[in-house]
Amino acid sequence: MRLFQATTYFLPMCGPDMVDFKLDEVQEMLRELAHQFAEDEVRPHAEKWDHDSLYPIETIKAAHEMGLLNLHIPEAYGGAGLGTFEEVIVNEELAWGDPGFSTAAYATGLACAPIITGATDFQKEKYLSMVAEKGALASYAVTEPGAGSDVASISTTAKKENDEYVLNGSKMWITGAGYADWFFVLAKTDPDAGYRGMSGFIVESDWEGLSLGKKETNMGQRCSDTRSITFDNVRVPEENLVGGSESGGWMNAMNAFDMSRPNIAAHATGLSRAAYEHALNYSHERQSFGKPLHKHQAIQFMLADMKTKVEASRLLTWKSAIEFDNGITNTESAAHAKRFAADSCMEVTTDAVQVFGGYGYSEEYPVARLMRAAKVMQIYEGSSQVQRMIIGREITKNL
Ligand SMILES: Cc1cc2nc3c(=O)[nH]c(=O)nc-3n(C[C@H](O)[C@H](O)[C@H](O)COP(=O)(O)OP(=O)(O)OC[C@H]3O[C@@H](n4cnc5c(N)ncnc54)[C@H](O)[C@@H]3O)c2cc1C
Repeated sequence: MRLFQATTYFLPMCGPDMVDFKLDEVQEMLRELAHQFAEDEVRPHAEKWDHDSLYPIETIKAAHEMGLLNLHIPEAYGGAGLGTFEEVIVNEELAWGDPGFSTAAYATGLACAPIITGATDFQKEKYLSMVAEKGALASYAVTEPGAGSDVASISTTAKKENDEYVLNGSKMWITGAGYADWFFVLAKTDPDAGYRGMSGFIVESDWEGLSLGKKETNMGQRCSDTRSITFDNVRVPEENLVGGSESGGWMNAMNAFDMSRPNIAAHATGLSRAAYEHALNYSHERQSFGKPLHKHQAIQFMLADMKTKVEASRLLTWKSAIEFDNGITNTESAAHAKRFAADSCMEVTTDAVQVFGGYGYSEEYPVARLMRAAKVMQIYEGSSQVQRMIIGREITKNL
């Protein structure tokens, strides 16, 4: 049974004229647990992980052991059976600890999303249980060297041969690929049918013909592992065709974003909050013209705008998560949350560097690392331009 229902939290506790944003006991406990974990186990290592490009495998395992990861896996498959709302609360804290860690740790959650929304019972039993009970890791493999935003243009193919599919092609920028036990892979089963000819597959990482590229050297979040994958005649049993049907692979892969984008927005919110807090503290310590920086109105207004962006990012994130948990189509609200939180995150971290002045430009202080980490928030899981395309499509579709 689920410990939490968003409706019981938001509706009966509140009168008709107000919305109470107070977390219930379970949510508050989760938030505190995640915050403590981020403070004790994540933040102290963040600089070294980033500097040395170290994948935080032990800390991901520890977060799994504490029950902080993949909260959305149903109880029937060994998961916590919690909602996206609980996940976003936890993910804000983990990203506050280190956004590279939260990206690395959430890769499995993204891969599980299309399995939760569209897989057969056999697939859920086998692959979700592997994650929930054994701490297996997984990656979501959709982007290709020649197709990112334009998913319909992917060229990886899956050709049916008796009771198997033979996969050929390559994927690019796959988070966690070097550590994944299995991949959710989108491929074309009918290359002439555009997005309607796409199917999802679960491919285990040690299957013959699958090879990985080198770890990419990225601008930020360098502890996260990002690689290409090549499929050279990889034979996938028919039972690993997600949902058991060739049609609907594209729709399922895209629907998974309704579940995952609130979480990416939560990462961006946690990252913004961390940068804002560093800037606020520094503005109190640093003096210029005989007074602390925050006594200068130009700096105080900058801090005020940063805080507004953190608060607004969280509210959009929560709304999209709660809608998802209540079965309300949240495609538009998830796009608002992801777009706003990501763009705000870039602005807030850039302003944090500004508040630190010359020290902000140095890697000696955390804000430079946070600014580098922020950029990818506007790129992955659908860029800020793609989110605007989604919002534009949603708001004009009934005109
Ligand atoms: C660190 C990192 C981790 C990633 N992890 C994963 C992962 O785990 N799994 C996965 O499948 N993918 C992953 N990605 C890929 C990511 O989702 C893509 O990079 C992203 O979707 C953009 O695709 P692209 O890089 O091909 O850019 P393009 O699609 O070539 O776009 C280039 C630029 O043009 C803009 N643009 C494109 N089309 C339009 C348009 N019609 N109108 C306006 N602007 C447009 C884009 O917003 C972007 O700014 C990751 C990427 C990075 C950098």
